[in-house]
Amino acid sequence: MSAFAFPPPPQPSVAVAGSSARFPVHRIYCIGLNYADHVREFGRDPARAPPVFFMKPADAVVENGAAVPYPPATANFHYEIELVVALARGGRDVAAQDALGLVFGYAAGNDLTRRDLQSAAKERGEPWDTSKGFDFSAPVGAIRPVSAGHVTSGRIWLSVNGGVRQESDIRHMLWDVPQIIAALSRLYELRPGDLIFTGTPAGIGAIKPGDILEGGVEGLEVLRNTIAPAARAEAT
Ligand code: MN
Repeated sequence: MSAFAFPPPPQPSVAVAGSSARFPVHRIYCIGLNYADHVREFGRDPARAPPVFFMKPADAVVENGAAVPYPPATANFHYEIELVVALARGGRDVAAQDALGLVFGYAAGNDLTRRDLQSAAKERGEPWDTSKGFDFSAPVGAIRPVSAGHVTSGRIWLSVNGGVRQESDIRHMLWDVPQIIAALSRLYELRPGDLIFTGTPAGIGAIKPGDILEGGVEGLEVLRNTIAPAARAEAT
């Protein structure tokens, strides 16, 4: 048996509704620009702006109910409520008609974004990593297993301090879940434990310490997180 040079980091995981077993996270894939009204709020034409892919680190997941520390290096921190797909099985070149067979379940998630860094990256043609893939950037509610059904429609919404900011329906996604899984599987070998954030509708906006975020997708656990003051530096 081989030894590690130091103790390996803990396995990131997400709660599963109705179970004490947790979902072990392998990778977090994200889809951007997947609702026409959100594409338009960026001043782009949905017909000419196909969805884009990016990633977050697995250990960016945040438990439902936990406080999210205001991140460093931003003055424009945004929420984005999204349907999250959790995979029980992987594959490459998965056909759209087979894609739902990979799904473990569904959850509500928040694709937290340092919007100022994203805008600067877009202007300069640079990667989005620092704007999307930072610590505590992926709150996810409990995953509802597919035994309760697939999510193909239903209200998706987010409120800040009780005021609704985002409201749409899952059926308005430009690419549906089977299309997303098929497309991702042509770029990567998908694995059990992968999470896929499927894009946010219009109404994005800034949040600050003390704000209370609530968001959800009809039929799934409501995701609640507060924004805490910036974390202090810690030796690790
Ligand atoms: Mn997003």
